[in-house]
Order: sequence, then C-alpha cells, then structure tokens
Amino acid sequence: MMRYAARTRRFDRSPSQIASARARDLRAQGRDIVTLTAGEPDFPTPDHVKRAVMAALERNETKYTAVEGTLALREAVSAKFKRDNGLDYAPDQILCGAGAKQVLFDALMATVEAGDEVIVPLPSWASYPDMVKFAGGTPVFIHCSQNAGFKMRPEELEAAITPQTKWVMFSSPNNPTGATYSREELKAISEVLLRHPHVWVISDDVYEHILFDDREFATLAQVEPRLYDRTLTVNSSSKAYSMTGFRLGFAGGPRELIREMGKMQSQSTSGPSSISQAAALEALSGPQDFIAERRAKMQERRDVICDLLAQCPGLMPSKPEGGLYVYCSVAGTLGKRTPQGKVIENDQDFTIYLLEQAEVAVVQGSAYGMSPYIRVSFPVAIETLQEAGRRIKKACEALT
Ligand code: PLP
Repeated sequence: MMRYAARTRRFDRSPSQIASARARDLRAQGRDIVTLTAGEPDFPTPDHVKRAVMAALERNETKYTAVEGTLALREAVSAKFKRDNGLDYAPDQILCGAGAKQVLFDALMATVEAGDEVIVPLPSWASYPDMVKFAGGTPVFIHCSQNAGFKMRPEELEAAITPQTKWVMFSSPNNPTGATYSREELKAISEVLLRHPHVWVISDDVYEHILFDDREFATLAQVEPRLYDRTLTVNSSSKAYSMTGFRLGFAGGPRELIREMGKMQSQSTSGPSSISQAAALEALSGPQDFIAERRAKMQERRDVICDLLAQCPGLMPSKPEGGLYVYCSVAGTLGKRTPQGKVIENDQDFTIYLLEQAEVAVVQGSAYGMSPYIRVSFPVAIETLQEAGRRIKKACEALT
C-alpha cells in the first residue's frame, strides 16, 4: 500500500471546488440545484481574445516558451502595471504562470521554510493558509470582524508581526468578503510595514477590475513606493477578462525574487501554455472598455443578491465593495430547527440545509476562516439570483 506524504494531510481540496463538485453530483442525479459557489464571471471570453487564440494557432505558436513567459507577454504585463497601477516593473521583474495561484505558490515555495510565519488576515481565500502550510511555514491569522469591514487594522498587523514573520499576504478586493482597502487604509498599513523591514508583502490584485460604487483601485507598492523593493504584486487574466480556464496569472516584484520563483516554476510546470500567453497578451493590450460594462452588470447583480438575502430571516449580508461574492452572516439561524428536526449548529449545517432543502449551493464561511457565515457567489444571471433568493428565503422561513 502507498504511504502518502505528510504534506497531503496538512490540508484538503479547495472548499469551493468541493462545494461545486457536490452540486454537480446532485445535478447529475436529476436535482435542480442553483449553484452559487463559483469564483468566475459567467461572461464569455471577449471575441478579440478568442481571435488572438486562433491566430496564435495559425502561426503554430504551440511550442515551449521561456519559463517566465514570452518577452512579448512580459512587456504587455509591464505596460499593464504602468497603465493601471503606475508601477514600473521591467520584463525581467515579471513572472507569468498558470494562474495567480501558481505564481503565489512559486513565491511561497521559493521563500518560506519551517519556522517562518506568514500573516493572513481572515476571512481569506482558503488557498493562502494551505499554500503556506504546503511550503512548510506557519500561517498567522488576524481575525477581521464584520464591524471592522472585514479589514485588518494597522494595530492588529503590528501585534501579529514577530521576528519570524516573512510575509503578509492579502487580496483587495477580498475573497470572500469583497472588503477593499482604500488608498488611505493601505497607507496606514504601510506605516506599520515600514517599521518592520524584514516583512515582505504579497498584494493579490486579481479582483482589481471588479470594484463597485466608483471606488478607485489602489495597490500597496503604488501607495508606498518605499515598499516597492519588498512587495510582490500579483494579478491575473482570470477574473477581469473572463479567462479563468486559460490559467494565466502574473507577478511583478524584485528581480532576485522573480528569478527564484522562476526556478520553482522551471521544475514544476515550466512556462505557461503558449496559447494562453497569446490570449493574455491580447487581453492586456487590446480594448479595455468592456471591463467597465461588465463591472456595471456585476454591481447590479451584487445589489440584487444583497437585497434578497437581507429579506431572509436570520441572515445578514455585508455589502461587498468589490469581487464576486457576498459574505453573509447566518448567526440568526443558529439554534433553530429544520423541518426534519435537525438543529442548525454552525454554518456547515446551514450550508447543508440550504443544499438539501432549498437546492441552493453556497460555501460555508468556516472554509474562509470566519464563522458563522456563508459565501454566496453572484457572477450569474439576475434570474438565477432571484430564484436562489426565493428558495433561500423559503428555507429560512421554514426554520423554527
Ligand atoms: N487570488 C484570489 C484572492 C482568488 O480568489 C483567486 C481565485 O479564486 C485567485 C487568486 C486565483 O486566480 P487564478 O485563476 O489566476 O489562479
């Protein structure tokens, strides 16, 4: 019998992937499940990107590329950082990989060892702590309450830093809460970081373009240039351009770090798919106007789902400032009894109840490190959200 490595026991598969798979299985059994678990916009990949894919195939761009991505793509990423973020990253300060996920993984694998700590504000994307553990490090959590807008306060960051701290990693807008750090909030965070020169920062900006209510996007290295030399700025073609399946992410950072990250990638996946690189090149350098149209549609969906959830007894949604998800408190359902006589004891119970009773799939908040909440994804048609809202309300009303 195979004895599996200890690292396989340090974490499980991604909870949203598990929830999506569970919903898919029930659907395959003929159940009419409304699935609100996905972390991807339902919009199609733009036509000009699809045409660029065809053209790349016609040109037989189907061979290995440089591990860090083609020079043409890295130049396009460099231009994107300048255009959107006012950041100067030369092509040799850029690494492209199979999604932001791989680039984050490369960064942690290249830098984190046993005894190293990585600060992760919670709630957070489930992959951060698991990647830290994979690399052998210890995630150190800051619990950011709903009252604080799910954001870490400077004094909380200060208190979490130790001599072992290697990184602070966070995304803004955040998955799962949509909390977004303003320029002023980032400035306050950077004041703390300037006092601790051994701490580096991963700024995960994958939701940069999905930002609501005319908010202005800001990223740490831009807000505090004195942190530029110890910041890794991570982004992706996935969310802004509806290209999740292409698996193309990128990072800009100090040359040496990028070189070490490239080393990790060279012995794992090598360069990202040549065709995905051609697609991302077009996405980043082609027309950008559709992004605002899609953002407006996403904002409309956010408003619809927040209104619907607010009408459900026991639920309290927190309106996201960006991103694709509502983090909704289910505290008011705890201790209540389902029509089948089961008591709802935590957000996992409530999630299962919703799936069985309302046939609506969401992800339990415990997966993101803060309970009792559910994460409700809203990048789906408004009619789907309305149907989900009707079902969730009925299920909440049936609790006694
Ligand atoms: N970072 C955050 C905060 C995410 O939520 C996700 C995906 O859900 C990613 C990174 C991964 O993006 P990619 O598709 O580029 O790997």
